[in-house]
Amino acid sequence: MATDQDTEQQILATIDKWVEQELRPIAKEFDQADEYPAELVEQMKALGLFGATIGEQYGGLGLSATTYARMVSRICQVWMAPSGIFNSHLIMANCVERGGTEAQKEYFLPKFASGELRGGIGLTEPDAGSDLQGIRLTARQDGDRYLLNGTKTWITNGIQGNCLAVLTKTDPAAEPRHRGMSLFLCEKGPGFSVGKKLKKLGYRAIDSAELIFEDFSVSRDNLIGGEEGRGFQQIAGGLELGRINIAARGAGMAKGATDMALAYAMERKTFGKSIAEHQAIQLKLAEMSTRAAAAALLVEQAASKFDRGERCDLEAGQAKFFASEAAVQNSLDAMRVFGGYSYSPDYEIERFYRDAPLLCIGEGTNEIQRMIIAKQMVARAG
Ligand SMILES: Cc1cc2nc3c(=O)[nH]c(=O)nc-3n(C[C@H](O)[C@H](O)[C@H](O)COP(=O)(O)OP(=O)(O)OC[C@H]3O[C@@H](n4cnc5c(N)ncnc54)[C@H](O)[C@@H]3O)c2cc1C
Repeated sequence: MATDQDTEQQILATIDKWVEQELRPIAKEFDQADEYPAELVEQMKALGLFGATIGEQYGGLGLSATTYARMVSRICQVWMAPSGIFNSHLIMANCVERGGTEAQKEYFLPKFASGELRGGIGLTEPDAGSDLQGIRLTARQDGDRYLLNGTKTWITNGIQGNCLAVLTKTDPAAEPRHRGMSLFLCEKGPGFSVGKKLKKLGYRAIDSAELIFEDFSVSRDNLIGGEEGRGFQQIAGGLELGRINIAARGAGMAKGATDMALAYAMERKTFGKSIAEHQAIQLKLAEMSTRAAAAALLVEQAASKFDRGERCDLEAGQAKFFASEAAVQNSLDAMRVFGGYSYSPDYEIERFYRDAPLLCIGEGTNEIQRMIIAKQMVARAG
């Protein structure tokens, strides 16, 4: 599904304006204070960002993955963290839109799109991240309800969100293990509490938290798709869009770091000329801009395949892997261009350097990403 060109231009122009007027001026202050940008979130609601990829029939903007990725890249050229406020939320929505029952779509999607209900995905546990099939949080049937017990950790929007898609084991003894996994939409209530807010190197201002479930009772109506044993496939499907989002963040950060380095290099003088005229700096700038451009093209490739409804785990994996590494490398290279000033919180580049590595970890680490790419290469060649 493609977004028509006029609509896309309008949306991207609105985002550009919002980024310059609202996001850029507060990024440094909120990042350094690790303060939740509540006003920004209200603006995001008004812009429709919580419904960006949700179908228009459910009150969303119904954007294609391509337009969505372009929008995310523009935000992350300036500040990456706010994109996390709606990304995992939209993965949750995507799981409902693709795998939910009609009643779940009717009830949840309009509330997700407006931001009345918002949150993210609760997958990771203290003892299970990459190996998601090793999770221990159980959902035990109790009449027409389920009782959830266990702990999730590192959950984005865990404190500020009010509804999370939680991956559980409904049959801990099932073999293969994924057959015993189910995904529940959990609105906060008794038995669902938030543990500590986690301190982080970067990706600040947005909350990451531990979630604790103690006999948390959830209706069978909240089991996505209405049938046990489909949770792993449902979340794997949602993560395809999530990986395109992470890749778009990486491409945006790689470009943002390049732009900052170029502007600084043209201004800073040593030995009687701007450092942009020194060949050593030029080599860096050329490599950075090439990396950023290549990352953007990989994002476009993955997003357009997603929009055509084709399987794109290889392309989304390549884009996520390359673009996140490009963001890390370009942030580091930009620091070299900035010299000593890169080490000061007065310059934005130090935030890029702290934020970028998360992209190599989230939505499947880059080690796991390479395994996915290679598996698909073999499958497609076979
Ligand atoms: C800021 C932040 C926000 C997050 N937000 C969320 C969220 O909203 N929801 C959520 O559910 N999770 C979230 N996470 C968790 C994140 O998804 C996990 O950290 C990630 O999946 C890796 O899991 P792990 O940390 O347990 O590492 P592990 O799985 O223990 O991996 C450790 C290392 O071993 C490597 N490794 C593991 N298995 C293999 C293998 N088979 N072959 C080769 N290498 C391997 C990994 O690549 C990694 O380098 C977040 C994490 C952070 C830091």
